[in-house]
Amino acid sequence: MIDTREGEQSGQEGMDEFPGSAEGKHVIGAFAGQRKGPSLICTAGIHGNEPAGVEALKRVLDTLHAHPQTFSGRLVALLGNTEAFSQGRRYVEKDLNRMWEKDRIAQLTAHKAEDLKHEDREQFELLEVLKSATRGNPGDVYFMDLHTSSADGPPFAVLNDSLYSRSFARKFPLPLVLGFEEELRGTLADYMDSLGHVSAGVEAGQHTSSLAVDHLESLIWIALVCAGNLSQEQVPEIQHHYQRLADCCRDLPSFIEVRYRHPVKRDDEFVMQPGFRSFQEVESGQLLARDRQGDLTAPGRAFLLLPLYQNEGEDGFFLAAAVRPFWIQLSAWIRPLRLDRLLHWLPGVDRHPEEEGVLLVNARIARWYTLDFFHLLGFRRRPSKGARFVMVHRKG
Ligand SMILES: [Zn+2]
Repeated sequence: MIDTREGEQSGQEGMDEFPGSAEGKHVIGAFAGQRKGPSLICTAGIHGNEPAGVEALKRVLDTLHAHPQTFSGRLVALLGNTEAFSQGRRYVEKDLNRMWEKDRIAQLTAHKAEDLKHEDREQFELLEVLKSATRGNPGDVYFMDLHTSSADGPPFAVLNDSLYSRSFARKFPLPLVLGFEEELRGTLADYMDSLGHVSAGVEAGQHTSSLAVDHLESLIWIALVCAGNLSQEQVPEIQHHYQRLADCCRDLPSFIEVRYRHPVKRDDEFVMQPGFRSFQEVESGQLLARDRQGDLTAPGRAFLLLPLYQNEGEDGFFLAAAVRPFWIQLSAWIRPLRLDRLLHWLPGVDRHPEEEGVLLVNARIARWYTLDFFHLLGFRRRPSKGARFVMVHRKG
């Protein structure tokens, strides 16, 4: 099932050591140009029941191999959770897209691969492949993690709000969703962003829909152009790809920010009301789901994202609000001024005693500095217990 023909028709480097090895099963394929340039690394199937990204990557690789052309840098296509993928399940033991925190990775890599199993083993192998794929061109790596969902809906991009990731994903004709990084810990896209790579996640629609494959294929071509691997003129159908995505995102806001996540535990008996889709607008008090505690209603007017219609997964639904483009532009102007370095002079705000770029905010004293204020200056909230918010400054 996995195509490891990388390098047959081009000067492929760096991935050759994997075919036949344990890590080789993660390589869907790769294509390298004769000219030096950026690497676009795409992962698909990090949730094993999401085959659309794998299919889309194969389509793009097949076209590139069939019509070799002047290509700068390389495209590397990776399969995330190989064991869950072969079983058509989201995961075997735990969610491979919630395991990428740095301390956890440090513990994992202290083991030998053969002592690990299921998702731990998959992560260990993926780390090796990613290390190889990013070697040699730090700062020039673009990363996309391709997903689908149990609910239907238009495609959208999920990004960490660093200026460099934002400027990459802004060229996609898709709504951009900020704020997942504060609700979901340990995603692969977050980890790649923390290494300084330009990074985005993509949700393309319903798991088994052929449209999701089409959307992802279009997006991969657009990403190759935006990253600088190909020029627009080298992709004859590029206008069709832009149009295909723009058509299904018409009338949607350009930026929205996640404000709420409904977590689901195994014994919650969570059941989403039927018929919802991502980006559907819901009203205050509207019934969204039921669980063993009773009705779950929308606390206010919001955009609904990723309502859960499958048995696996810990996110029942997300609620998001539109962000005015003015704020996006304002933060792009303000962040380079590095006002973040002065914030610890404000009442209720202290520097973290050990970690650079981290502030501890006493929510009672610093009440008037809203979360939006910190977002504007390039901070993200780190989930934490206790009376103080932990705000971490992004690199870009
Ligand atoms: Zn997924």
